Amino acid sequence: MSAAPSNSRGVTDFCVIGGGIVGLATAMQLLQRNPGASLVLLEKESALAMHQTGHNSGVIHSGIYYAPGSLKADLCKRGERATKEFCTEHGVPFITCGKTLVATSALELARMDALVQRAVQNGIDVEHLDATELRRREPNIAGLGALFVPATAIVDYRQVCAAMARVIQSLGGEIVLGARVTAIEETADQVTVRAGARTVRAGHLIACAGLQSDRIARLAGLTATHQIIPFRGEYYRLPSEKNGIIRSLIYPIPDPELPFLGIHLTRMIDGGVTVGPNAVLGFAREGYRKLSVDVGDVAQYLFFPGLWKVLARYRKSVRAELAGSLFKSAYLKECRKYCPSLESSDLLPYEAGIRAQAVTRDGTLVHDFLFLESPRTLHVCNAPSPAATSAIPIGQLIAERAGGVQ
Ligand SMILES: Cc1cc2nc3c(=O)[nH]c(=O)nc-3n(C[C@H](O)[C@H](O)[C@H](O)COP(=O)(O)OP(=O)(O)OC[C@H]3O[C@@H](n4cnc5c(N)ncnc54)[C@H](O)[C@@H]3O)c2cc1C
Repeated sequence: MSAAPSNSRGVTDFCVIGGGIVGLATAMQLLQRNPGASLVLLEKESALAMHQTGHNSGVIHSGIYYAPGSLKADLCKRGERATKEFCTEHGVPFITCGKTLVATSALELARMDALVQRAVQNGIDVEHLDATELRRREPNIAGLGALFVPATAIVDYRQVCAAMARVIQSLGGEIVLGARVTAIEETADQVTVRAGARTVRAGHLIACAGLQSDRIARLAGLTATHQIIPFRGEYYRLPSEKNGIIRSLIYPIPDPELPFLGIHLTRMIDGGVTVGPNAVLGFAREGYRKLSVDVGDVAQYLFFPGLWKVLARYRKSVRAELAGSLFKSAYLKECRKYCPSLESSDLLPYEAGIRAQAVTRDGTLVHDFLFLESPRTLHVCNAPSPAATSAIPIGQLIAERAGGVQ
């Protein structure tokens, strides 16, 4: 991979930590905004997109859920368009199949009306479907009513990342795999980053380290009062003969108090259908198997007061999610609310994802993006879903904040 040129003092203009979609989009935007700049991206794994970006639902969201005027709503709406444009330009396949949000109770019908208001305020087209029209469009789905969001699409974010990496390299950036950052030192005129045998001296450091973002911020000497808590998102996949069971993506109406969207039926770009994800406390930030445990990760959150407050505040949904994780029958019951024909034998194993959820000491689940900064470093400390959709405008925002070449 090409080596980024540094200036006469051996200082590279930008160092980016993290080869997930946020790090890659940021690196791409930095190089596009600063033609001729030097940039090194350090990724600890042997390939790109090995964590959240490579273990998600693959949905390009429209931004219907988010509070009007919030950064999350704005970035998602812009991201939906930017991701589709990027895919079109770089030959990455995507399908705009739309999303159907299905209400299965009177409470969900009321929440659905609130979502329509949000959609209007966010400038997103939605169609209201009654139960009959829902059945006509989605013969295998049952509900009291539904909202159809036509702009929602599906993509493989690993392919998006591969295309971004090609752009970065074509602009002279260097991507170093297998480079785990273990030390960061900031002085008045540069930041020194150590990753194995490699030392990068950079004008600016941008850290997009996902599940490790709080640790990287602390490594750089910043005071991070929040902590990343890993929430597993467990999926199943349907047998291939059921791939035609849905035409659009099928989502429940979400509980506005919770940051997760609920178990959905998702068409994947490879033609398969996944079911999930749920949201259960993980015992390892980067362990994908059901029984993965990282003693360090667990010890760190057990001593963090924010975790206990979250568990107490959301105890009802914590119990329900845990039941779904332990018992397939409980998981199936959730799916059957809107897809009654599903059987236990339809739920085949599929790899889990792990969300990096920032939690504050008072037990608040951080819903929006969270950045920490020092004069020469910027840390993305919370990039919640739909950050894969929003990555391109997030990269633009960070590239503007990070300043230019000196
Ligand atoms: C189950 C699940 C489903 C989701 N579904 C969707 C969806 O459908 N649509 C959507 O828009 N969003 C979705 N999201 C959210 C989205 O996937 C994430 O918000 C996004 O991928 C975050 O990207 P990232 O680059 O910040 O993090 P990551 O992809 O986790 O990348 C961080 C990178 O930093 C690297 N790193 C960490 N520490 C170091 C170190 N010390 N040295 C070097 N490198 C390091 C890691 O190895 C990793 O590659 C989902 C997330 C999950 C978990």
